[in-house]
Amino acid sequence: MSYKVPFVDVPTQYRRLRKPIMDVIDQVLARGNLILREELREFESGFAEFVGSKYAVGVSSGYDALHLTLRALGIGPGDEVITVSHTCVATVSAIVHVGASPVFVDIGADFNMDMGQLDDAVTARTRAVLPVHLNGHACDMERLLDIAGKRRVLVVEDPAQALGARFDGRMLGTFGRAAAFSLYPFKMLGGFGDGGIVVTDDPEIARKVAVLRDYGQDRETGEILDFGFNARLDNLQAAILDVKLPYLPEWIARRRQIAEIYREGLRDVPFLTLPHFDDARYFDVYLNYSVLTARRDELVTHLKASGVEPLVPISLAKPIHLHEALGFKGVRLPRTEDAESRFVYLPINPELGDEQVRYVIECIRSFRG
Ligand SMILES: *Cc1c(COP(=O)(O)O)cnc(C)c1O
Repeated sequence: MSYKVPFVDVPTQYRRLRKPIMDVIDQVLARGNLILREELREFESGFAEFVGSKYAVGVSSGYDALHLTLRALGIGPGDEVITVSHTCVATVSAIVHVGASPVFVDIGADFNMDMGQLDDAVTARTRAVLPVHLNGHACDMERLLDIAGKRRVLVVEDPAQALGARFDGRMLGTFGRAAAFSLYPFKMLGGFGDGGIVVTDDPEIARKVAVLRDYGQDRETGEILDFGFNARLDNLQAAILDVKLPYLPEWIARRRQIAEIYREGLRDVPFLTLPHFDDARYFDVYLNYSVLTARRDELVTHLKASGVEPLVPISLAKPIHLHEALGFKGVRLPRTEDAESRFVYLPINPELGDEQVRYVIECIRSFRG
């Protein structure tokens, strides 16, 4: 079914950028530049510059970015990594797949890690804290850095949903030893397939991730330095991402504009809690416009019947720790569990016109459920 207001709109974005994208695909194919070539290096350096970090290393997904970062830091069996259950499961899988144990902290009023509970979660085995900046909104990094510094644990960020967002004027992804971004098609900057990228100021971590993504080999010398993986970012995807990167500030500005239109139009709707936090330290990028409502399922049905495509993220519909197969029996996170049944994301892709956003507002305002 085709929606009047689609949740994401790849065809419209593609139509606008078709010429430069087709040109770059043609160039890359004509040169035969497929694996670890200059287009990848150019994208990595442009990305690093955008985030304000020294190094960026392209990998095959956000998951791999997290996994290889933790591995490069030497985190493994016996170590605990503190994170949240209110995230994409990839955050948690990455911790498990290096052999470490995830330790969950509940979410706070901002739906990110509750910094009031972080200190208590630190044990003698804690190696790192892995804050997730969900939906383009930063965690309280001032309190996090303070606690992590005092307790001497590493900070590794998961800003997969928050490329371009800031806290206290500083870009997310630059607060810890390293950060893992996703370049999945529907993140802030997406390829036409999977991709991810690690950023860091530490040359040793950058080098290790580059080695691990490429079977553990040093391409210059042929020396195999570790048992690695095949987790490279395709050169063709990197070339396309490099064409899109300059548009990112414009897309962020548009998302923020749409969020303001929603805010104006929905602020007095009694059954909705809107994602605005009124704290000047936060510069949000609204990957998702996440609202809470006790009448979620009825509202979703009403919106869909009106031609609006909301999203109830299945990855969040049931918190990770409640999935039996994963073995987190006995873990209780009341706020995470309570919020999960009430979240719904409204369309906020930068391709939307004002009239589409106003239509969503009208549909919500006419909801009687
Ligand atoms: C998308 C996402 C990931 C995983 O990224 P992929 O590119 O899909 O592997 C990790 N963490 C968060 C918070 C995400 O939103």
